[in-house]
Amino acid sequence: MSQCEKVQLTPGALPGIAPAESHEIRMLRKTEVSFRRLFINHPEPMWVYDLKTLHCLEVNDAAVEHYGYSRDEFLRMLLTDLYPLEDVPGLFQDVARTRAGAQHSGEWRHLHKDGRFIDVDVIYHGLAFGGREVKMVVVRDITKQRQAEQALRQAERKYRLMFEEAIVGMYQSTPDGRLLSANPAMARMFGFDSPAELIACFPDTQSQAYVDPTRREEFEHLLREKGVVKHFELQVQRKDGSKVWLWTNAQVIHEGNTIVRYEGTFEDITDRKLLEDQLLQAQQNYRDIVENAVVGMFQSTPKGRYLSVNPAMASMLGYDSPQDLVASITDITQQVYVDSKSREEFQRIAREQGVATNFECQAYRKDGSKMWLCANVRAIFKNGDLVRYEGMNEDVTQRKLLEDQLRQAQKMEAVGQLAGGIAHDFNNTLGVIIGYSDLLQMKLPVGDPSHRHAMQITKAGRRAGALIRQLLAFSRKQVIQPVVLNLNSATREFEKMMPHLIGEDIEITFKRSPGLGPVKMDPGQVEQMLMNLAVNARDAMPQGGRLCIETANIELDETYARQNVHVTPGPYVMLSVSDTGCGMDRETQLHIFEPFFTTKKAGKGTGLGLSTVYGIVKQNAGHIRIYSALGEGTTFKLYLPRIGDAATLSLPPQALETILLGTETVLIVEDEEPLRLLARLCLESNGYSVLDAPNAAAALELAEKHDGRLDLLLTDVVMPGMSGRELAKRLTEQREVKVLYMSGYNNDLSDHHGILDRDTVLLEKPFTVNSLLSKVYEVLHTGQAGKTIAASGV
Ligand code: ADP
Ligand code: MG
Repeated sequence: MSQCEKVQLTPGALPGIAPAESHEIRMLRKTEVSFRRLFINHPEPMWVYDLKTLHCLEVNDAAVEHYGYSRDEFLRMLLTDLYPLEDVPGLFQDVARTRAGAQHSGEWRHLHKDGRFIDVDVIYHGLAFGGREVKMVVVRDITKQRQAEQALRQAERKYRLMFEEAIVGMYQSTPDGRLLSANPAMARMFGFDSPAELIACFPDTQSQAYVDPTRREEFEHLLREKGVVKHFELQVQRKDGSKVWLWTNAQVIHEGNTIVRYEGTFEDITDRKLLEDQLLQAQQNYRDIVENAVVGMFQSTPKGRYLSVNPAMASMLGYDSPQDLVASITDITQQVYVDSKSREEFQRIAREQGVATNFECQAYRKDGSKMWLCANVRAIFKNGDLVRYEGMNEDVTQRKLLEDQLRQAQKMEAVGQLAGGIAHDFNNTLGVIIGYSDLLQMKLPVGDPSHRHAMQITKAGRRAGALIRQLLAFSRKQVIQPVVLNLNSATREFEKMMPHLIGEDIEITFKRSPGLGPVKMDPGQVEQMLMNLAVNARDAMPQGGRLCIETANIELDETYARQNVHVTPGPYVMLSVSDTGCGMDRETQLHIFEPFFTTKKAGKGTGLGLSTVYGIVKQNAGHIRIYSALGEGTTFKLYLPRIGDAATLSLPPQALETILLGTETVLIVEDEEPLRLLARLCLESNGYSVLDAPNAAAALELAEKHDGRLDLLLTDVVMPGMSGRELAKRLTEQREVKVLYMSGYNNDLSDHHGILDRDTVLLEKPFTVNSLLSKVYEVLHTGQAGKTIAASGV
């Protein structure tokens, strides 16, 4: 303590002023009082203590206030009482080190009276005080500062930890791209072991890191422009070459006007990206299913609006797009359902059962045309309320049509079988009836009334026979002799006689397609078909019109075959007959092929014409199609299987025509008027002169009156009155004439009641124009009347 300054302060003199003192002493006291006041009022805690005893000798107000002890308590305390026990050894060292003059003792912890610590910075002055070595201590409370420092340290530690341990990558870089710092997460993201390694490599890595370099330019541009970039996605290549998707947020740090660095974070979003991609893909898949579905899909409200539909649904109903459909239809019941009751029914089922399956209804397309829909729909309820329907619609128009066709075909099949069965039995029975009534007529004298009765029986039998033949044709029981023929030439003979058949008011056109392929068919059937179709066309055009017969090679493809019942795809020859007549409505068209269906007056039509055509086409594995509308005319298209190309036909088409032209006179005897007419037309249009008579008696009379030549008798075998054979016998007795018989009973020739010799030349009915011509030609040119000529098909 020797170095201590000797400041002479009188101990115990401070509290009062003694009386009668010298001026000097008074002045001194005054100064002392001032100093004391300075000490007492000093804003920072101060005290003086005895270095030996460690007793507090003086203490100021700030200390009293700051430490919570009263002045007296302070003055009774030892210095060590202010220190926590563990700091006391330090205190002693400090005391031992005490030197004179002002010194900085350092930072300590003091105890407040209430037990808490006060962080303090201590300055002392070692001095002599009243003969003792004392220390005057000035204390600055640094608790707040310490706390602030502590908080700062903690914060710093916290943020460092955050930086170090973060799962997001963090970095700071210079504006030219040099990394200033990076955290471990960022290093890991880029595939480096440590931030240091990353920072060292980054100048080169950065340029290679972006999988798409344009993304980097974009990023930098954005950052410079806006100062911040948020949620910027980029794909980077890691150190090992693998790729990851990252998401970065970055900002520019300015100092004044200059950019000093960039700061940002990276997040690895590869997994999320993957998930997102999968989600997108899944979404796309579902969208594709809906968008590309061939069935219509929809959501609709119970009130009758579409909420959404797919393209198939729109095109099914004839709308340009799903949007067009949704916008156009404001009332499904009125605009879509042909029968509004049908929707009520659908709604009832859906409401009651929750679903409506295979619900079929007819719907309107946008253009007003009708179609068939098959719906499978689910009703969606929310809190017990029906909120919408969801489902699929399928266009079943085609199926419905096919079902109709099939029903129709099956009906025709059944009717055909029935008719065929009856016709066959009936034909035999008729043969017996006619045969015996013929016999009766021959035996009875002509004037006898019974002769007339027998004649009536035969007549009626013949009429019935004609019908039966048509029924047999319809039910495909007609006996046929198919040959390979070309429809272009096979129709030539028919063309010649057509004007006579259908009259002058109708303009006839033939359009024969060159290179037409051949078909295998009985030529007689070709004429039967044409005859029936042409006569119908004539009847449909009482005021005249146009009739056009056309041929063409046609391929019926798979699609066509699918849409039409009983059609085999392949090559066909089409024969069409069109007229500009009255046409038919749908209902009529449904029935025209049925036997006995006619719209004509009784006696005018038999309703067997088209049945015959139908039967013939079917018998030849063909297909028939009608195009007609009321007032719009009619086209029948017959498709017959083509059996090769045009060259397949060996017979030159003109051969028949040149051979068969004749100049002779023929007498036709046939009670069935259409047939007689046909034979007459046929022969006349081929140069022959013709006489005709409905029965033998009339024929004989005619022959007698006829002065000119008579070269050939063409007669039916079974006729009312005198039979054909009897007529031939009488006529050949009178004059030199050749004979050709016609018979409808081609089915069982040999069994023909012995009316004909087995060798007789016979023209089978139904005959074809060509077979008629060739038979006539043969008989005329072989010289012998009534002699055997091998019956040859054309
Ligand atoms: P028919 O001629 O004896 O009435 P078809 O079987 O030949 O019997 O014809 C049946 C019905 O088909 C006819 O009554 C007629 O109503 C209708 N039809 C046939 N062809 C035509 C046509 N070319 N134009 C208009 N209607 C037709
Ligand atoms: Mg007819």
